[in-house]
Amino acid sequence: MKTQTRVVVIGGGIAGCSTLYHLTQEGWSDVVLLERDELTSGTTWHSAAQVTNFGMNQTMVGLKTHSINLYKELAEDKDYPINYHHGDGGIRLANTQAQMDGYAHFASVAKGMDVDFEVIDAAECARRHPLISTDNLIGGLWDPLDGDIDPAQLCQALARRARKAGAEIYRHTPVTKLTQHKDDSWTVHTEKGDIDCEIVVNACGYRVNEVASMMGVQHPVTSMEHQYFLTEDIPAITEAGHRMPLLRCPISDYYCRQEKNGLLVGFYEQDCKTWGMDGIDPKFVNALCPDDLDRVTDVLEGAFARMPALMETGIRTIVNGPITYTIDGAPLVGPIPNKRNAFCIIGLRAGIGEGGGHGWLLAQQIVHGEACYDTWCIDPRRFTGHANVELTALKAIEDYQNEFRFHLPHEHREAGRHAKTTSLTPILAAEGAEFTVVNGWERMDYIKPTPDFTETHGYYYNEVFDVVKAEVNAVQTAVGLTEVNGFNRFELSGTDLRPFLDRMFCGRITAKTGRVGLGYLLNHQGNIKAEATIANLPDGRVWYGSAAAAEYHDMDWLTQNIRADEDVQIRSLTNEHTILVLAGPKARAVLTQVARGDWSAAAFPWLSVREAFIGIAPAVIMSVSFSGEHAYEIHVPNAQLYAAYLALRKAGAAHGLRLFGARAVDSMRLEKGYRHWKADLITEFNPFESDLGRFVNLQKPDFIGKAALEAAQSTGLRRKFVTLVLDSDNAPAQAGDSVVQNGQVVGTVTSADWGHRTGKNIAMAFIKPEATENLMVEVIGQPVPARTVEPCRYDPENKLPKS
Ligand SMILES: Cc1cc2nc3c(=O)[nH]c(=O)nc-3n(C[C@H](O)[C@H](O)[C@H](O)COP(=O)(O)OP(=O)(O)OC[C@H]3O[C@@H](n4cnc5c(N)ncnc54)[C@H](O)[C@@H]3O)c2cc1C
Repeated sequence: MKTQTRVVVIGGGIAGCSTLYHLTQEGWSDVVLLERDELTSGTTWHSAAQVTNFGMNQTMVGLKTHSINLYKELAEDKDYPINYHHGDGGIRLANTQAQMDGYAHFASVAKGMDVDFEVIDAAECARRHPLISTDNLIGGLWDPLDGDIDPAQLCQALARRARKAGAEIYRHTPVTKLTQHKDDSWTVHTEKGDIDCEIVVNACGYRVNEVASMMGVQHPVTSMEHQYFLTEDIPAITEAGHRMPLLRCPISDYYCRQEKNGLLVGFYEQDCKTWGMDGIDPKFVNALCPDDLDRVTDVLEGAFARMPALMETGIRTIVNGPITYTIDGAPLVGPIPNKRNAFCIIGLRAGIGEGGGHGWLLAQQIVHGEACYDTWCIDPRRFTGHANVELTALKAIEDYQNEFRFHLPHEHREAGRHAKTTSLTPILAAEGAEFTVVNGWERMDYIKPTPDFTETHGYYYNEVFDVVKAEVNAVQTAVGLTEVNGFNRFELSGTDLRPFLDRMFCGRITAKTGRVGLGYLLNHQGNIKAEATIANLPDGRVWYGSAAAAEYHDMDWLTQNIRADEDVQIRSLTNEHTILVLAGPKARAVLTQVARGDWSAAAFPWLSVREAFIGIAPAVIMSVSFSGEHAYEIHVPNAQLYAAYLALRKAGAAHGLRLFGARAVDSMRLEKGYRHWKADLITEFNPFESDLGRFVNLQKPDFIGKAALEAAQSTGLRRKFVTLVLDSDNAPAQAGDSVVQNGQVVGTVTSADWGHRTGKNIAMAFIKPEATENLMVEVIGQPVPARTVEPCRYDPENKLPKS
C-alpha cells in the first residue's frame, strides 16, 4: 500500500467511487480510495438505483444531467458495458393543483438547463403507464430520461476508469484514525498501515459519523430504514410491449419501476424508523435490516389502488436498508465546516442517481476551489451551530414521510422548529407573528391579522398579500420595527487588518471610524463569493456583517486567506447579538426618544455607525437601510434584547409603530434593487455580470480574483443581472423560472415578489446580455410578458435613507 498520496477518499460506495474517478478527470491521478470491506458493501449494493433528472433547482438538475450523460457513456463502453435503462421515462403523480403548479415551475427550472420535462394530465399518465388507474389523479410531471442502473456495476466501472487513470483502491482497509498536522496535511491510519496525504474525503455513507469523530466533528446526517419489494412477473407488463415508466407518488408515498418482467415498489411509510442512532454494529456489512412489511400497509394500499395488477402478483424479495438523510433533504458535498483540507460527500438519499454529479462537483471544488455551478444548495456549511444529529433525525422522519411532497413557497414544516430563537421569539409569537426559518432561526415573517389566520401555501398570491401590503404601508408612512436574528457578525482586529481587507474586497472599503461600507469578496475565478458590510467602530474595532447563513462559509473564506505572517484575528459575534431594525419616516423620532445624542442627518448621516444605549440596553447603531426607507440597524447583545425592544415599542406607540416581518422586507428590498446572497449573488458570475461594477476598483494593486476579473473583461459578459417588471398580478415568479425570448430560454429568475410601494410584480434575473426585448417570464409554466427596468424602482436618488 502507498504511504503517501495527494487525496485519500474514505468509502467505496457510489459517493467515493465517483469522487475518485472525477479527481482523475480533473487531472489529479495520485489519489487513493480506502474501503473497509468490498466496494458497494454499504448502502449502494441494494439500492433501487433509479436515476432521474428531476431537481428542485438548477444546480441539482445540472448535476443529475451530468450523472445521466456519464452513465450513458459507461453503459456504451464496449470493454466494460453496464446495465442502464435510460429513457424508460418517469411520472411524478399529483392529485392537487398546487403540486401540478409546482411541476410547471420545476419544468421551467429544468428548461434553463436544457432539460425537457412535460406536464401531463391524468389520461396521458395512464396512456404512458398502462398499469395505473386515474382515480384521484390530476396529472403528473413526465421526465423522459428517467431510468435505473445496476449500482454495483456502476461503481466497478467508475473504479476501473479511475484505476486506469492512476488512482489506487485498497479494499478491506478500514480507516481507524485520522491525524491532522500543523501544515493541515493528514495521516490516515488504517488496519494495514498509514498514508500521509494533503486532503481527506469522507464518503462513508451511514458510517459517516464514525469517521467524522476521528476528526472531531459530527455531521448532521442520520439514517432511515427504507424498504422495497420485487414482484413476480406481471403478464400486463410483457403484453404492453414496452418497458414501464417509473412512478413516484406523493399521494400514497411509494415509487415503482420495472424489474425484469415484474415491478420494484419502494415505500415511504408514515410509521417510519431511524436507524443506527445508538451506534452501528461493525459487522453490518453487505447487510440488510429485518423485513417489516406490516409497517408499510398504509402506503401499500395506495399502491394497490393505483396499480390493481399488484394485487394479483406474488412478492419475490423484500429489501430493507439504511438510507441517509440531512436536515433539508439535500446532501452535504463540499468542505467540512471549520476544518482545513477536509471534504465530505455524505447524506446522499438518492445517491445512485445523483452520485455521478456530486462526485463531479466535489472533485472540481477540491482541485479548483470552486465548481462550475454555485454549490450552496449542497454546501456542508449551509447549516451552522444548530445542526446536530437529533435535529436531523426529526427532520429526516418528516422528510421521509413527505418524500415526494415538495415544500410549497414559504412553507416551513413543523419538525425541529425553534432550533434557534431569541428572547423575543415567544413575545413576537404572542403578538401574532408567523415565522419563517432562516438557517434554523425563527424569524418573524408577518403578523397574522387574527389568531386563526392561516396561509394557503401555493404558487399564487394569497391572503398574506394584503397583510404584507399593510406592513409595508406602515413602514412607508410611519415607522416599523422588526427583528433580524442570526445576522452574521464577526469582530475583526489585528495590525494587518487593513491590508488584509484590501486584499479580500474587490473595491475600496472605508476605514474611517464611525462609517459603514458595503463591499464584495470574489473567489479566485473573479466571481462573487461573499457580500459584507464593514462597520468601523471606535478603538479600531471593525465589524464584518453578512447573511444569516454565511457564518461558517465566510469564516472559512476569511481565515483561509490570512497569511502566515499576518496579524489578523476574527471572532464571531453572530450568536451573541441580534438586530432590531427601525424603519420609516418616524424612525429618527423614535430613536431620539430612546437614545441620548444627536441623531440628526448632519450628526449621524447615512452609512454611519455609533455606540449608544437604547434605554438601558447597550447597542451598536448603524444608519443603513435594506428597505429603502429612512432606517437604523440596532445591534443589541441578546441579554439586553428584550429591554431594547420594550424601549422602542414604548417610544414608538406615539408614532404609530407597527411590527413588520421578513416578507415585507423582501418586497421592499426588491423595489430598491438590493440582492440576496446565494439567490441573486452566486459564484457563477462576476461583479460586472452581477451589475455591481461600481463596487469594483481595478486600480487597486491587488485583490483576490483581480487577475481573473481582468481576464474576463476581454471575453465580455456571459450574463447580465437585470430587474424585470412582469405584466401580471396574480402570481410572483419563482427563483429558477426561465426567462424566454421568442421561445428560447435566455435567462433565469433569481428572486421575485410583489413591490407594494410601486405596485409592480418584480423579478430579478440573470439573462443573456443581448436579450433585451420581447421577454417573457414563465410563471407556473405560463409565459408572462416582462420588461427590463432600472433596478431601483423606489426613491432612485436614495433621498429617504439620507434624509
Ligand atoms: C432501499 C434503498 C433504495 C434506494 N433507492 C435509490 C434509488 O432508487 N435511487 C437512488 O439514487 N438512490 C437510492 N437509494 C439511496 C442510495 O442507494 C444511496 O444514496 C447511496 O448508495 C449512498 O452511497 P454512499 O457511497 O454515500 O454510501 P455507501 O454505499 O454506504 O458507501 C459508504 C462506504 O464507506 C465504507 N466505509 C465506512 N466506514 C469506513 C471506514 N472507516 N474505512 C473505510 N471505508 C469505510 C463502507 O464500507 C461503504 O462501502 C436507495 C437506498 C436504499 C436503502
